[in-house]
Amino acid sequence: MTITPFEEKVYLSSPTMHGEELKYMQEAYETNWMSTVGANINEVERLISEKIGCGYAVALSSGTAALHLAIKIAGERLYGQPRVGHGTLEGHKVFASDMTFDATVNPIAYEGGEAVFIDTEYDTWNMDPVALEKAFEMYPDVRLVVVAHLYGTPGKIGEIRRICDEHGALIVEDAAESFGATYKGSQTGIFGDYSIISFNGNKIITGSSGGMILCRKKEDADKARKWSTQSREAAPWYQHEELGYNYRMSNVIAGVVRGQIPYLEEHIAQKKAIYERYKTGFADLPVEMNPFDAETSEPNFWLSCMLIKPEAMCRQVRGEKDVLYISEPGKSCPSEILDAIAALNAEGRPIWKPMHLQPIYRMNPFITASGNGRGGTNAYIEGEAADVGLDIFERGLCLPSDNKMTAEQQDRIIEAVRECFK
Ligand SMILES: *Cc1c(COP(=O)(O)O)cnc(C)c1O
Repeated sequence: MTITPFEEKVYLSSPTMHGEELKYMQEAYETNWMSTVGANINEVERLISEKIGCGYAVALSSGTAALHLAIKIAGERLYGQPRVGHGTLEGHKVFASDMTFDATVNPIAYEGGEAVFIDTEYDTWNMDPVALEKAFEMYPDVRLVVVAHLYGTPGKIGEIRRICDEHGALIVEDAAESFGATYKGSQTGIFGDYSIISFNGNKIITGSSGGMILCRKKEDADKARKWSTQSREAAPWYQHEELGYNYRMSNVIAGVVRGQIPYLEEHIAQKKAIYERYKTGFADLPVEMNPFDAETSEPNFWLSCMLIKPEAMCRQVRGEKDVLYISEPGKSCPSEILDAIAALNAEGRPIWKPMHLQPIYRMNPFITASGNGRGGTNAYIEGEAADVGLDIFERGLCLPSDNKMTAEQQDRIIEAVRECFK
């Protein structure tokens, strides 16, 4: 079969500008408010805290910076201020989502803590509350849980909150991918003691970069703002009582975010239509789309993903940095499908490789629903997964989900995926 690739690449998820971004950037330029102070920052903080319904939002340079400050504030609240040069979490374990982007968990290490990875459930592809309960049985002293909502789908955050309350633990909620998604009618970003969102270039709306920490209390927001601007004290000179960071958002970036905010719902509607079109296009294939619980949640459909049924997987062997697979009639695997998508000049992506499988975190504990998950080799055993994250990583992939993709382009991608199963 000859394939005619798209002339212009179809991306996984790329920035989509609307015009107002330029107006606010220009305003910043013309008024010389080109630093980390200005009307765009103030307005973006106001609009986002209003949208999410959290008390306070502090605009920062990235979602990762927001996670760092969120985790650091939680660490200080739990364990007090450390000596300079030491992290707030030193000597402490922290429970964290396992199947996620490493930015979710790296700040635990920045603060000297040890991440204990909690396995994933199949219903929403997020942290499994059953595994979290197990983890508290095994490590009853843990007081902090860092939890992400993957691909725009809210996790079982109600259950996670109940478990954390029972154990007196704080939650840092990573809503970087799920801005605009709701759980039981509330926006993600409201469920953590500290929450964050991201305006990275591939997120549902973007500032080209940027992020925000969302806090319930004014004192926490004030602390985040102070730390993000080098921790200056109120004094005539540069006076420092605490470690500082250069994490504040620029007023130019905030202009881009400000111009994007009115388009959040439009982007979500486009992403949802993409998800539905894939779902229909794959209805008779041995695959399912990334699932969500329609009773409790409305995702933002940031990325459309698919999972191949176990019986329809061809052989695929992944090493640390390479992969081999053997095509079989009627079957396929993520690697074959990603190759087919790439041949069309479109961009797919493997599922986030779980943190417990990453060389950097291989020595950290990993807890599954049935207890300690280390040592298992077979992810999928007779309908029971011993390591759900590994199983989804092996059988799943992210499909091109750009909101500028045309229906015709998406139909060709669907056709290319269907070919893989012939
Ligand atoms: C993008 C992302 C982040 C980090 O956000 P940046 O703004 O890129 O630093 C954190 N967590 C998750 C789950 C993400 O997808």
